[in-house]
Amino acid sequence: MSSSFVRTLREDPADAEVPSHRLLVRAGYIRRAAAGVYTWLPLGVRVLAGVTRVVREEMERIGAQEVLFPALLPREPYDATGRTDAYGDLLFRLRDRRGAGYLLGPTHEEMFTLLAAAELASYRDLPLVLFQVQTKYRDEARPRSGLLRGREFSMKDSYSFDLDDAGLRKAYQAHREAYQRVFRRLGIDYRIVAAFSGAMGGSVSEEFLAPTPVGEDTFVLCGQCEYAANVEAVPAVVPRVPSVDHPPVEVVDTPDTPTIQTLAAQLGVPASATLKNLLVRVDDEIVAIGVPGDRDVDLGRLEQALAPARVRIVEAGDFADRPELVRGYVGPQGMAGRAFRYLADPRVAPGTSWVTGANEVDRHARNVVCGRDFTVDRYVEVATVLPGDPCPRCGGPLAIDRGVEVGHIFQLGRVYADAFGLDVLGPDGAPARVTMGSYGLGLSRAVAVIAEQHHDERGLAWPAEVAPYDVHLVPVGRGDQLALALDLAGRLDAAGLRVLVDDRTDASAGVKLTDAELLGMPWIVVVGRRAAEGVVEVRERRGGAAQEVAFGDVAGVLSR
Ligand code: ATP
Ligand code: MG
Repeated sequence: MSSSFVRTLREDPADAEVPSHRLLVRAGYIRRAAAGVYTWLPLGVRVLAGVTRVVREEMERIGAQEVLFPALLPREPYDATGRTDAYGDLLFRLRDRRGAGYLLGPTHEEMFTLLAAAELASYRDLPLVLFQVQTKYRDEARPRSGLLRGREFSMKDSYSFDLDDAGLRKAYQAHREAYQRVFRRLGIDYRIVAAFSGAMGGSVSEEFLAPTPVGEDTFVLCGQCEYAANVEAVPAVVPRVPSVDHPPVEVVDTPDTPTIQTLAAQLGVPASATLKNLLVRVDDEIVAIGVPGDRDVDLGRLEQALAPARVRIVEAGDFADRPELVRGYVGPQGMAGRAFRYLADPRVAPGTSWVTGANEVDRHARNVVCGRDFTVDRYVEVATVLPGDPCPRCGGPLAIDRGVEVGHIFQLGRVYADAFGLDVLGPDGAPARVTMGSYGLGLSRAVAVIAEQHHDERGLAWPAEVAPYDVHLVPVGRGDQLALALDLAGRLDAAGLRVLVDDRTDASAGVKLTDAELLGMPWIVVVGRRAAEGVVEVRERRGGAAQEVAFGDVAGVLSR
Protein backbone atom coordinates (compact mmCIF):
# COMPACT_ATOMS: atom_id res chain seq x y z
CA MET A 1 0.00 0.00 0.00
CA SER A 2 2.99 2.31 0.46
CA SER A 3 3.44 2.41 -3.29
CA SER A 4 -0.15 1.82 -4.40
CA PHE A 5 -2.37 4.72 -5.24
CA VAL A 6 -4.78 4.45 -2.33
CA ARG A 7 -5.73 7.74 -0.75
CA THR A 8 -8.14 7.77 2.15
CA LEU A 9 -9.70 10.92 3.60
CA ARG A 10 -10.46 11.57 7.27
CA GLU A 11 -13.34 13.88 6.45
CA ASP A 12 -16.52 13.32 4.50
CA PRO A 13 -16.67 15.24 1.22
CA ALA A 14 -18.88 18.29 1.68
CA ASP A 15 -21.16 17.56 -1.28
CA ALA A 16 -21.91 13.94 -0.33
CA GLU A 17 -25.47 13.35 0.82
CA VAL A 18 -25.69 9.56 0.67
CA PRO A 19 -23.51 6.91 2.35
CA SER A 20 -22.21 5.32 -0.87
CA HIS A 21 -21.00 8.68 -2.20
CA ARG A 22 -19.41 9.61 1.12
CA LEU A 23 -17.65 6.27 1.59
CA LEU A 24 -16.50 5.76 -2.01
CA VAL A 25 -14.80 9.15 -1.94
CA ARG A 26 -13.39 8.82 1.58
CA ALA A 27 -12.04 5.33 0.97
CA GLY A 28 -10.33 6.43 -2.24
CA TYR A 29 -12.46 4.64 -4.85
CA ILE A 30 -13.61 7.69 -6.81
CA ARG A 31 -13.01 11.42 -7.09
CA ARG A 32 -15.30 14.13 -8.42
CA ALA A 33 -14.29 15.63 -11.76
CA ALA A 34 -17.43 17.73 -12.36
CA ALA A 35 -21.04 17.62 -11.18
CA GLY A 36 -22.13 14.02 -11.74
CA VAL A 37 -18.83 13.10 -13.40
CA TYR A 38 -16.29 10.94 -11.57
CA THR A 39 -12.74 9.71 -11.92
CA TRP A 40 -12.19 6.08 -10.92
CA LEU A 41 -9.12 5.43 -8.75
CA PRO A 42 -7.44 1.99 -8.73
CA LEU A 43 -9.69 0.45 -6.06
CA GLY A 44 -12.77 1.77 -7.83
CA VAL A 45 -11.59 0.45 -11.17
CA ARG A 46 -11.30 -3.02 -9.62
CA VAL A 47 -14.85 -2.95 -8.25
CA LEU A 48 -16.32 -1.64 -11.50
CA ALA A 49 -14.39 -4.32 -13.38
CA GLY A 50 -15.74 -6.97 -10.99
CA VAL A 51 -19.33 -5.86 -11.53
CA THR A 52 -18.80 -5.70 -15.28
CA ARG A 53 -17.26 -9.20 -15.34
CA VAL A 54 -20.26 -10.71 -13.56
CA VAL A 55 -22.69 -8.99 -15.92
CA ARG A 56 -20.69 -10.02 -18.97
CA GLU A 57 -20.57 -13.65 -17.81
CA GLU A 58 -24.32 -13.76 -17.28
CA MET A 59 -25.05 -12.10 -20.63
CA GLU A 60 -22.81 -14.58 -22.40
CA ARG A 61 -24.52 -17.41 -20.54
CA ILE A 62 -27.82 -16.48 -22.25
CA GLY A 63 -26.09 -16.35 -25.62
CA ALA A 64 -25.79 -12.59 -25.97
CA GLN A 65 -22.90 -11.37 -28.15
CA GLU A 66 -20.87 -8.34 -27.23
CA VAL A 67 -20.50 -5.35 -29.55
CA LEU A 68 -19.38 -1.80 -28.88
CA PHE A 69 -21.07 1.25 -30.31
CA PRO A 70 -19.54 4.69 -30.10
CA ALA A 71 -20.64 7.07 -27.37
CA LEU A 72 -20.45 9.94 -29.87
CA LEU A 73 -23.52 9.51 -32.06
CA PRO A 74 -25.02 11.18 -35.10
CA ARG A 75 -28.17 13.00 -34.22
CA GLU A 76 -30.39 12.02 -37.18
CA PRO A 77 -31.50 8.60 -35.90
CA TYR A 78 -32.68 10.21 -32.67
CA ASP A 79 -34.53 12.87 -34.66
CA ALA A 80 -36.17 10.08 -36.66
CA THR A 81 -37.68 8.48 -33.54
CA GLY A 82 -38.54 11.80 -31.92
CA ARG A 83 -36.25 11.13 -29.00
CA THR A 84 -34.17 14.26 -29.49
CA ASP A 85 -37.34 16.06 -28.37
CA ALA A 86 -38.47 13.42 -25.87
CA TYR A 87 -35.15 13.54 -24.03
CA GLY A 88 -35.03 17.33 -24.29
CA ASP A 89 -32.53 18.90 -21.90
CA LEU A 90 -31.31 15.47 -20.81
CA LEU A 91 -29.29 15.17 -24.02
CA PHE A 92 -25.73 16.35 -24.32
CA ARG A 93 -25.73 17.81 -27.83
CA LEU A 94 -22.78 18.92 -29.89
CA ARG A 95 -21.81 19.99 -33.39
CA ASP A 96 -18.77 19.08 -35.43
CA ARG A 97 -16.65 21.65 -37.31
CA ARG A 98 -19.00 21.44 -40.27
CA GLY A 99 -22.05 22.12 -38.13
CA ALA A 100 -23.44 18.58 -38.25
CA GLY A 101 -25.43 17.57 -35.17
CA TYR A 102 -24.15 14.94 -32.77
CA LEU A 103 -25.02 13.80 -29.31
CA LEU A 104 -23.43 11.81 -26.53
CA GLY A 105 -25.46 8.60 -26.37
CA PRO A 106 -27.97 8.47 -23.49
CA THR A 107 -29.01 4.93 -24.59
CA HIS A 108 -28.64 3.13 -27.92
CA GLU A 109 -31.95 1.68 -29.21
CA GLU A 110 -31.72 3.66 -32.45
CA MET A 111 -28.17 2.57 -33.22
CA PHE A 112 -28.80 -1.12 -32.55
CA THR A 113 -31.95 -1.06 -34.66
CA LEU A 114 -30.07 0.59 -37.53
CA LEU A 115 -27.30 -1.98 -37.30
CA ALA A 116 -29.82 -4.82 -37.34
CA ALA A 117 -31.66 -3.26 -40.29
CA ALA A 118 -28.40 -3.09 -42.23
CA GLU A 119 -27.08 -6.54 -41.33
CA LEU A 120 -30.01 -8.93 -40.81
CA ALA A 121 -31.44 -10.48 -43.94
CA SER A 122 -33.44 -13.57 -43.11
CA TYR A 123 -35.40 -15.19 -40.33
CA ARG A 124 -32.45 -17.58 -40.13
CA ASP A 125 -30.42 -14.71 -38.60
CA LEU A 126 -32.84 -14.72 -35.65
CA PRO A 127 -33.13 -14.91 -32.72
CA LEU A 128 -30.27 -12.57 -31.91
CA VAL A 129 -29.21 -10.84 -28.70
CA LEU A 130 -26.49 -8.16 -28.76
CA PHE A 131 -25.08 -6.30 -25.81
CA GLN A 132 -22.48 -3.68 -25.03
CA VAL A 133 -20.79 -2.13 -22.03
CA GLN A 134 -20.61 1.56 -22.74
CA THR A 135 -20.45 4.96 -21.10
CA LYS A 136 -23.71 6.89 -21.33
CA TYR A 137 -24.32 10.58 -21.03
CA ARG A 138 -27.38 12.31 -19.64
CA ASP A 139 -27.51 15.89 -18.46
CA GLU A 140 -29.49 14.93 -15.36
CA ALA A 141 -31.28 17.81 -13.65
CA ARG A 142 -30.12 16.75 -10.19
CA PRO A 143 -26.83 14.89 -10.40
CA ARG A 144 -26.59 14.28 -6.65
CA SER A 145 -25.86 11.05 -4.89
CA GLY A 146 -22.49 10.38 -6.50
CA LEU A 147 -22.48 7.33 -8.75
CA LEU A 148 -26.18 6.70 -8.13
CA ARG A 149 -27.10 9.45 -10.57
CA GLY A 150 -24.22 10.48 -12.75
CA ARG A 151 -24.21 12.60 -15.86
CA GLU A 152 -21.62 10.20 -17.23
CA PHE A 153 -22.20 6.60 -16.19
CA SER A 154 -21.50 3.06 -17.27
CA MET A 155 -24.33 0.86 -18.52
CA LYS A 156 -24.71 -2.60 -19.94
CA ASP A 157 -27.43 -2.43 -22.55
CA SER A 158 -28.68 -5.33 -24.60
CA TYR A 159 -31.21 -5.70 -27.37
CA SER A 160 -33.06 -8.78 -28.56
CA PHE A 161 -34.32 -9.34 -32.10
CA ASP A 162 -37.06 -11.88 -32.81
CA LEU A 163 -39.55 -12.77 -35.47
CA ASP A 164 -42.57 -13.15 -33.23
CA ASP A 165 -44.02 -12.35 -29.80
CA ALA A 166 -43.21 -15.80 -28.44
CA GLY A 167 -39.53 -15.25 -29.31
CA LEU A 168 -39.56 -11.83 -27.65
CA ARG A 169 -41.11 -13.26 -24.48
CA LYS A 170 -38.41 -15.92 -24.39
CA ALA A 171 -35.59 -13.36 -24.76
CA TYR A 172 -37.22 -11.20 -22.10
CA GLN A 173 -37.51 -14.13 -19.71
CA ALA A 174 -33.87 -15.09 -20.33
CA HIS A 175 -32.81 -11.56 -19.43
CA ARG A 176 -35.02 -11.55 -16.36
CA GLU A 177 -33.31 -14.71 -15.11
CA ALA A 178 -29.85 -13.42 -16.06
CA TYR A 179 -30.50 -10.26 -14.04
CA GLN A 180 -31.63 -12.34 -11.07
CA ARG A 181 -28.35 -14.26 -11.21
CA VAL A 182 -26.35 -11.04 -11.62
CA PHE A 183 -27.89 -9.34 -8.61
CA ARG A 184 -27.61 -12.44 -6.46
CA ARG A 185 -23.89 -12.68 -7.31
CA LEU A 186 -23.36 -8.97 -6.70
CA GLY A 187 -25.01 -9.22 -3.29
CA ILE A 188 -27.68 -6.70 -4.31
CA ASP A 189 -31.00 -7.05 -2.55
CA TYR A 190 -33.67 -6.26 -5.17
CA ARG A 191 -37.36 -6.39 -6.02
CA ILE A 192 -38.78 -6.88 -9.50
CA VAL A 193 -41.57 -4.37 -10.01
CA ALA A 194 -43.94 -3.58 -12.85
CA ALA A 195 -42.84 -0.37 -14.53
CA PHE A 196 -44.28 2.41 -16.59
CA SER A 197 -42.65 2.21 -20.00
CA GLY A 198 -42.16 5.96 -20.38
CA ALA A 199 -40.17 7.51 -23.21
CA MET A 200 -39.18 4.09 -24.55
CA GLY A 201 -42.69 3.23 -25.71
CA GLY A 202 -43.53 -0.46 -25.88
CA SER A 203 -45.63 -2.40 -23.45
CA VAL A 204 -44.38 -4.91 -20.89
CA SER A 205 -41.55 -3.70 -18.74
CA GLU A 206 -40.17 -4.38 -15.30
CA GLU A 207 -37.61 -2.66 -13.11
CA PHE A 208 -35.13 -4.19 -10.71
CA LEU A 209 -35.20 -1.89 -7.71
CA ALA A 210 -32.73 -2.11 -4.85
CA PRO A 211 -34.56 -1.12 -1.66
CA THR A 212 -32.72 1.70 0.12
CA PRO A 213 -33.92 4.81 1.91
CA VAL A 214 -31.87 7.00 -0.47
CA GLY A 215 -33.70 5.67 -3.54
CA GLU A 216 -35.46 8.09 -5.87
CA ASP A 217 -38.01 5.52 -7.01
CA THR A 218 -41.03 4.63 -4.91
CA PHE A 219 -42.63 1.23 -5.25
CA VAL A 220 -45.49 -0.72 -3.74
CA LEU A 221 -45.64 -4.28 -2.53
CA CYS A 222 -48.91 -6.04 -1.79
CA GLY A 223 -49.03 -7.65 1.63
CA GLN A 224 -51.37 -10.33 0.31
CA CYS A 225 -50.40 -11.31 -3.26
CA GLU A 226 -47.24 -11.05 -5.36
CA TYR A 227 -48.09 -7.66 -6.85
CA ALA A 228 -45.13 -5.28 -6.92
CA ALA A 229 -44.97 -2.10 -8.99
CA ASN A 230 -43.30 1.24 -9.30
CA VAL A 231 -45.82 3.83 -8.04
CA GLU A 232 -45.61 5.29 -11.56
CA ALA A 233 -47.38 2.15 -12.79
CA VAL A 234 -49.99 1.61 -10.05
CA PRO A 235 -53.53 2.20 -11.37
CA ALA A 236 -56.15 3.71 -9.07
CA VAL A 237 -58.71 1.25 -7.72
CA VAL A 238 -62.06 3.01 -8.09
CA PRO A 239 -64.76 1.98 -5.60
CA ARG A 240 -68.22 1.32 -7.01
CA VAL A 241 -70.25 4.50 -6.96
CA PRO A 242 -73.70 3.97 -5.39
CA SER A 243 -76.43 5.79 -7.28
CA VAL A 244 -78.01 8.31 -4.93
CA ASP A 245 -79.80 11.61 -5.40
CA HIS A 246 -77.42 14.33 -4.30
CA PRO A 247 -78.68 17.63 -2.88
CA PRO A 248 -77.94 20.67 -5.05
CA VAL A 249 -74.62 22.49 -4.93
CA GLU A 250 -74.31 24.65 -1.83
CA VAL A 251 -71.72 27.41 -1.49
CA VAL A 252 -70.44 27.98 2.05
CA ASP A 253 -68.12 30.54 3.65
CA THR A 254 -64.88 28.90 4.71
CA PRO A 255 -62.63 31.56 6.20
CA ASP A 256 -59.30 30.53 7.71
CA THR A 257 -59.02 27.23 5.89
CA PRO A 258 -55.59 27.48 4.31
CA THR A 259 -55.13 23.71 4.03
CA ILE A 260 -57.23 20.74 3.02
CA GLN A 261 -57.02 19.51 6.62
CA THR A 262 -58.45 22.72 8.08
CA LEU A 263 -61.15 22.81 5.40
CA ALA A 264 -62.12 19.20 5.98
CA ALA A 265 -62.22 19.75 9.75
CA GLN A 266 -64.38 22.88 9.43
CA LEU A 267 -66.90 21.10 7.19
CA GLY A 268 -66.75 17.82 9.09
CA VAL A 269 -65.74 15.63 6.14
CA PRO A 270 -62.66 13.47 5.57
CA ALA A 271 -59.91 14.95 3.38
CA SER A 272 -60.69 12.25 0.81
CA ALA A 273 -64.14 13.81 0.29
CA THR A 274 -62.61 17.06 -0.89
CA LEU A 275 -61.50 17.67 -4.46
CA LYS A 276 -58.17 19.39 -4.91
CA ASN A 277 -57.58 21.14 -8.26
CA LEU A 278 -54.05 21.89 -9.34
CA LEU A 279 -53.53 24.29 -12.22
CA VAL A 280 -50.64 23.52 -14.52
CA ARG A 281 -49.39 24.86 -17.79
CA VAL A 282 -49.19 22.10 -20.40
CA ASP A 283 -47.11 23.60 -23.18
CA ASP A 284 -49.06 26.86 -23.57
CA GLU A 285 -52.42 25.82 -22.22
CA ILE A 286 -53.71 26.05 -18.65
CA VAL A 287 -55.13 22.74 -17.48
CA ALA A 288 -56.67 21.80 -14.13
CA ILE A 289 -55.95 18.44 -12.55
CA GLY A 290 -58.42 17.11 -9.98
CA VAL A 291 -57.43 14.61 -7.31
CA PRO A 292 -59.04 13.63 -3.98
CA GLY A 293 -57.82 16.01 -1.25
CA ASP A 294 -55.93 13.34 0.69
CA ARG A 295 -53.61 12.91 -2.31
CA ASP A 296 -51.25 15.07 -4.30
CA VAL A 297 -50.55 15.27 -7.98
CA ASP A 298 -47.34 13.33 -8.58
CA LEU A 299 -45.51 15.61 -11.03
CA GLY A 300 -43.38 12.76 -12.36
CA ARG A 301 -46.51 10.76 -13.21
CA LEU A 302 -48.14 13.85 -14.70
CA GLU A 303 -45.18 14.52 -16.99
CA GLN A 304 -45.26 10.89 -18.08
CA ALA A 305 -49.00 10.95 -18.73
CA LEU A 306 -48.77 14.10 -20.84
CA ALA A 307 -45.41 13.45 -22.55
CA PRO A 308 -44.04 14.78 -24.81
CA ALA A 309 -45.86 17.98 -23.71
CA ARG A 310 -43.97 20.11 -21.18
CA VAL A 311 -45.64 20.62 -17.83
CA ARG A 312 -45.05 23.30 -15.24
CA ILE A 313 -46.92 24.55 -12.19
CA VAL A 314 -48.69 27.86 -12.79
CA GLU A 315 -47.28 30.95 -11.13
CA ALA A 316 -48.92 34.17 -9.97
CA GLY A 317 -48.24 35.70 -13.41
CA ASP A 318 -50.40 33.07 -15.11
CA PHE A 319 -53.46 34.33 -13.19
CA ALA A 320 -53.03 37.96 -14.18
CA ASP A 321 -55.13 37.82 -17.36
CA ARG A 322 -57.46 35.09 -16.08
CA PRO A 323 -59.68 36.66 -13.39
CA GLU A 324 -62.05 33.67 -13.49
CA LEU A 325 -59.28 31.54 -11.96
CA VAL A 326 -59.32 32.24 -8.22
CA ARG A 327 -56.09 31.03 -6.77
CA GLY A 328 -56.65 28.44 -4.04
CA TYR A 329 -60.40 28.26 -4.69
CA VAL A 330 -60.62 26.62 -8.10
CA GLY A 331 -63.53 24.24 -8.65
CA PRO A 332 -64.48 22.42 -11.86
CA GLN A 333 -68.21 23.31 -11.67
CA GLY A 334 -68.99 25.80 -14.42
CA MET A 335 -65.33 25.86 -15.40
CA ALA A 336 -64.32 22.41 -16.65
CA GLY A 337 -64.12 22.35 -20.43
CA ARG A 338 -64.60 26.15 -20.56
CA ALA A 339 -62.02 28.00 -18.47
CA PHE A 340 -59.69 25.04 -18.64
CA ARG A 341 -59.45 21.47 -19.83
CA TYR A 342 -60.16 19.28 -16.82
CA LEU A 343 -58.12 16.16 -16.22
CA ALA A 344 -58.86 14.06 -13.15
CA ASP A 345 -57.93 11.02 -11.15
CA PRO A 346 -60.21 8.04 -11.96
CA ARG A 347 -61.58 8.24 -8.40
CA VAL A 348 -63.35 11.41 -9.53
CA ALA A 349 -65.88 9.08 -11.17
CA PRO A 350 -69.32 9.96 -12.55
CA GLY A 351 -71.79 10.14 -9.65
CA THR A 352 -69.22 11.03 -6.98
CA SER A 353 -69.92 14.11 -4.85
CA TRP A 354 -67.24 16.51 -3.61
CA VAL A 355 -66.37 19.51 -1.51
CA THR A 356 -64.30 21.80 -3.68
CA GLY A 357 -63.38 25.43 -4.37
CA ALA A 358 -66.30 27.74 -5.19
CA ASN A 359 -64.24 29.86 -7.62
CA GLU A 360 -64.62 32.73 -5.08
CA VAL A 361 -62.18 33.81 -2.40
CA ASP A 362 -62.83 32.23 1.02
CA ARG A 363 -65.68 30.08 -0.23
CA HIS A 364 -66.10 26.43 -1.03
CA ALA A 365 -68.87 24.45 -2.65
CA ARG A 366 -70.30 21.16 -1.41
CA ASN A 367 -72.41 18.53 -3.18
CA VAL A 368 -70.50 19.14 -6.40
CA VAL A 369 -71.31 16.03 -8.40
CA CYS A 370 -69.24 14.64 -11.23
CA GLY A 371 -71.39 14.23 -14.35
CA ARG A 372 -74.06 16.60 -13.00
CA ASP A 373 -72.10 19.76 -12.13
CA PHE A 374 -68.96 19.16 -14.16
CA THR A 375 -67.46 16.66 -16.54
CA VAL A 376 -63.95 15.31 -16.79
CA ASP A 377 -62.26 15.79 -20.17
CA ARG A 378 -59.75 13.03 -19.59
CA TYR A 379 -58.89 10.61 -16.80
CA VAL A 380 -55.20 10.41 -15.89
CA GLU A 381 -53.26 8.26 -13.43
CA VAL A 382 -51.31 11.02 -11.74
CA ALA A 383 -52.33 10.90 -8.08
CA THR A 384 -49.89 9.87 -5.38
CA VAL A 385 -50.25 6.34 -4.03
CA LEU A 386 -50.85 6.06 -0.27
CA PRO A 387 -49.80 3.28 2.10
CA GLY A 388 -52.77 0.97 2.60
CA ASP A 389 -54.29 1.72 -0.83
CA PRO A 390 -55.96 -1.37 -2.26
CA CYS A 391 -53.86 -3.64 -4.44
CA PRO A 392 -55.08 -3.42 -8.06
CA ARG A 393 -54.79 -7.19 -8.35
CA CYS A 394 -56.27 -8.56 -5.12
CA GLY A 395 -57.52 -5.61 -3.06
CA GLY A 396 -55.06 -6.27 -0.22
CA PRO A 397 -53.28 -3.35 1.44
CA LEU A 398 -50.24 -1.93 -0.35
CA ALA A 399 -47.02 -1.09 1.49
CA ILE A 400 -44.72 1.60 0.11
CA ASP A 401 -40.93 1.58 0.02
CA ARG A 402 -38.09 3.41 -1.72
CA GLY A 403 -35.46 1.98 -4.01
CA VAL A 404 -32.87 2.65 -6.68
CA GLU A 405 -33.42 1.28 -10.18
CA VAL A 406 -30.46 -0.93 -11.07
CA GLY A 407 -31.96 -2.60 -14.09
CA HIS A 408 -34.86 -2.19 -16.47
CA ILE A 409 -36.11 -4.76 -18.97
CA PHE A 410 -38.55 -3.86 -21.77
CA GLN A 411 -40.51 -5.70 -24.38
CA LEU A 412 -40.22 -2.89 -26.89
CA GLY A 413 -42.16 -4.62 -29.62
CA ARG A 414 -41.94 -3.04 -33.07
CA VAL A 415 -41.71 0.69 -32.26
CA TYR A 416 -38.07 0.99 -33.29
CA ALA A 417 -38.31 -1.63 -36.02
CA ASP A 418 -41.16 0.44 -37.52
CA ALA A 419 -39.13 3.64 -37.27
CA PHE A 420 -36.25 2.17 -39.28
CA GLY A 421 -38.02 -0.46 -41.37
CA LEU A 422 -36.29 -3.40 -39.72
CA ASP A 423 -37.55 -6.39 -41.75
CA VAL A 424 -36.13 -9.80 -42.53
CA LEU A 425 -37.28 -12.31 -45.10
CA GLY A 426 -39.72 -14.62 -43.32
CA PRO A 427 -39.99 -18.42 -43.75
CA ASP A 428 -42.75 -17.82 -46.33
CA GLY A 429 -40.52 -15.58 -48.43
CA ALA A 430 -42.38 -12.40 -47.46
CA PRO A 431 -40.74 -9.60 -45.45
CA ALA A 432 -41.49 -9.82 -41.73
CA ARG A 433 -41.06 -6.99 -39.23
CA VAL A 434 -38.72 -7.79 -36.36
CA THR A 435 -39.79 -7.41 -32.72
CA MET A 436 -37.32 -6.12 -30.14
CA GLY A 437 -36.54 -6.02 -26.46
CA SER A 438 -34.22 -3.63 -24.68
CA TYR A 439 -32.51 -4.33 -21.38
CA GLY A 440 -30.45 -1.86 -19.36
CA LEU A 441 -28.32 -2.42 -16.28
CA GLY A 442 -26.44 0.39 -14.56
CA LEU A 443 -22.89 -0.81 -13.87
CA SER A 444 -21.52 2.26 -12.09
CA ARG A 445 -24.84 2.66 -10.30
CA ALA A 446 -24.57 -0.98 -9.20
CA VAL A 447 -21.21 -0.17 -7.57
CA ALA A 448 -22.94 2.56 -5.55
CA VAL A 449 -25.90 0.33 -4.72
CA ILE A 450 -23.59 -2.39 -3.40
CA ALA A 451 -21.82 0.23 -1.26
CA GLU A 452 -25.23 1.51 -0.13
CA GLN A 453 -26.36 -1.96 0.95
CA HIS A 454 -22.98 -3.16 2.29
CA HIS A 455 -21.48 -0.70 4.71
CA ASP A 456 -21.52 0.15 8.39
CA GLU A 457 -20.48 3.18 10.42
CA ARG A 458 -16.80 2.25 9.99
CA GLY A 459 -16.77 1.87 6.24
CA LEU A 460 -17.41 -0.34 3.25
CA ALA A 461 -17.84 -4.12 3.42
CA TRP A 462 -17.70 -5.54 -0.11
CA PRO A 463 -19.24 -8.89 -1.06
CA ALA A 464 -16.44 -11.27 -2.13
CA GLU A 465 -17.43 -11.32 -5.81
CA VAL A 466 -16.71 -7.62 -6.39
CA ALA A 467 -14.21 -6.75 -3.64
CA PRO A 468 -11.05 -5.14 -5.05
CA TYR A 469 -9.00 -7.64 -3.02
CA ASP A 470 -9.98 -10.74 -1.07
CA VAL A 471 -7.82 -9.95 1.92
CA HIS A 472 -6.20 -6.94 3.53
CA LEU A 473 -3.05 -7.75 5.52
CA VAL A 474 -2.28 -5.36 8.36
CA PRO A 475 1.08 -5.78 10.12
CA VAL A 476 1.12 -4.11 13.54
CA GLY A 477 4.01 -3.99 15.97
CA ARG A 478 7.68 -3.02 16.07
CA GLY A 479 9.14 -6.46 15.30
CA ASP A 480 9.42 -8.26 12.01
CA GLN A 481 5.64 -8.24 11.43
CA LEU A 482 6.06 -6.52 8.07
CA ALA A 483 8.42 -9.20 6.80
CA LEU A 484 6.09 -11.91 8.10
CA ALA A 485 3.11 -10.19 6.46
CA LEU A 486 4.90 -10.05 3.13
CA ASP A 487 5.74 -13.71 3.48
CA LEU A 488 2.12 -14.55 4.24
CA ALA A 489 1.03 -12.40 1.30
CA GLY A 490 3.20 -14.55 -0.97
CA ARG A 491 1.58 -17.73 0.28
CA LEU A 492 -1.97 -16.35 -0.06
CA ASP A 493 -1.18 -15.09 -3.53
CA ALA A 494 0.08 -18.55 -4.48
CA ALA A 495 -3.22 -19.95 -3.20
CA GLY A 496 -5.03 -17.72 -5.73
CA LEU A 497 -6.14 -15.00 -3.32
CA ARG A 498 -5.89 -11.32 -4.19
CA VAL A 499 -3.96 -9.62 -1.40
CA LEU A 500 -3.51 -6.01 -0.33
CA VAL A 501 -0.69 -5.49 2.19
CA ASP A 502 -0.50 -2.35 4.27
CA ASP A 503 3.28 -1.98 4.18
CA ARG A 504 3.31 1.65 5.27
CA THR A 505 5.94 2.20 7.91
CA ASP A 506 4.81 5.70 8.76
CA ALA A 507 1.24 4.78 9.70
CA SER A 508 0.21 3.79 13.24
CA ALA A 509 -1.58 0.51 13.96
CA GLY A 510 -4.73 2.52 14.66
CA VAL A 511 -4.60 4.31 11.32
CA LYS A 512 -3.96 1.07 9.44
CA LEU A 513 -6.83 -0.78 11.12
CA THR A 514 -9.21 2.14 10.62
CA ASP A 515 -8.27 2.31 6.95
CA ALA A 516 -8.72 -1.44 6.53
CA GLU A 517 -12.26 -1.15 7.86
CA LEU A 518 -12.96 1.88 5.67
CA LEU A 519 -11.68 0.14 2.52
CA GLY A 520 -13.86 -2.88 3.19
CA MET A 521 -12.10 -6.01 1.91
CA PRO A 522 -14.03 -9.13 3.02
CA TRP A 523 -11.12 -10.34 5.20
CA ILE A 524 -8.70 -8.40 7.37
CA VAL A 525 -5.70 -10.33 8.64
CA VAL A 526 -3.84 -8.68 11.51
CA VAL A 527 -0.21 -9.77 11.65
CA GLY A 528 0.57 -8.69 15.19
CA ARG A 529 1.86 -9.74 18.59
CA ARG A 530 1.79 -13.51 18.00
CA ALA A 531 3.12 -13.39 14.43
CA ALA A 532 6.55 -14.56 15.59
CA GLU A 533 4.86 -17.73 16.90
CA GLY A 534 3.22 -18.17 13.50
CA VAL A 535 -0.27 -17.05 14.57
CA VAL A 536 -2.33 -14.20 13.08
CA GLU A 537 -5.79 -12.81 13.69
CA VAL A 538 -8.31 -13.31 10.88
CA ARG A 539 -11.28 -10.96 10.97
CA GLU A 540 -14.37 -11.00 8.83
CA ARG A 541 -15.07 -7.43 7.79
CA ARG A 542 -18.78 -8.07 7.76
CA GLY A 543 -20.00 -9.04 11.21
CA GLY A 544 -16.53 -8.59 12.71
CA ALA A 545 -16.02 -12.22 13.83
CA ALA A 546 -12.32 -12.79 14.65
CA GLN A 547 -10.23 -15.91 15.21
CA GLU A 548 -6.58 -16.76 15.70
CA VAL A 549 -5.25 -18.85 12.87
CA ALA A 550 -1.88 -20.48 12.25
CA PHE A 551 0.08 -19.11 9.28
CA GLY A 552 -0.27 -22.29 7.29
CA ASP A 553 -4.07 -22.42 7.76
CA VAL A 554 -4.91 -18.87 6.69
CA ALA A 555 -5.38 -19.65 3.00
CA GLY A 556 -7.72 -22.50 3.89
CA VAL A 557 -9.81 -20.33 6.22
CA LEU A 558 -10.12 -17.55 3.63
CA SER A 559 -10.98 -19.88 0.78
CA ARG A 560 -13.84 -21.62 2.48
P1 ATP B 1 -33.86 6.67 -13.62
O1 ATP B 1 -35.35 6.50 -13.57
O2 ATP B 1 -33.17 6.30 -12.34
O3 ATP B 1 -33.42 7.99 -14.17
P2 ATP B 1 -33.93 5.50 -16.18
O4 ATP B 1 -35.29 4.93 -16.14
O5 ATP B 1 -33.72 6.78 -16.87
O6 ATP B 1 -33.36 5.61 -14.69
P3 ATP B 1 -32.93 3.62 -18.10
O7 ATP B 1 -33.03 4.59 -19.21
O8 ATP B 1 -33.87 2.48 -18.07
O9 ATP B 1 -32.93 4.39 -16.71
O10 ATP B 1 -31.41 3.12 -18.03
C1 ATP B 1 -31.04 1.79 -17.70
C2 ATP B 1 -30.23 1.73 -16.44
O11 ATP B 1 -29.16 2.68 -16.44
C3 ATP B 1 -31.02 2.08 -15.20
O12 ATP B 1 -31.73 0.96 -14.74
C4 ATP B 1 -29.93 2.51 -14.23
O13 ATP B 1 -29.39 1.38 -13.59
C5 ATP B 1 -28.90 3.13 -15.13
N1 ATP B 1 -28.95 4.59 -15.09
C6 ATP B 1 -29.87 5.40 -15.67
N2 ATP B 1 -29.59 6.68 -15.44
C7 ATP B 1 -28.46 6.71 -14.69
C8 ATP B 1 -27.65 7.76 -14.14
N3 ATP B 1 -27.96 9.04 -14.33
N4 ATP B 1 -26.55 7.41 -13.42
C9 ATP B 1 -26.23 6.12 -13.24
N5 ATP B 1 -26.94 5.10 -13.73
C10 ATP B 1 -28.04 5.38 -14.46
MG1 MG C 1 -36.94 4.23 -15.13
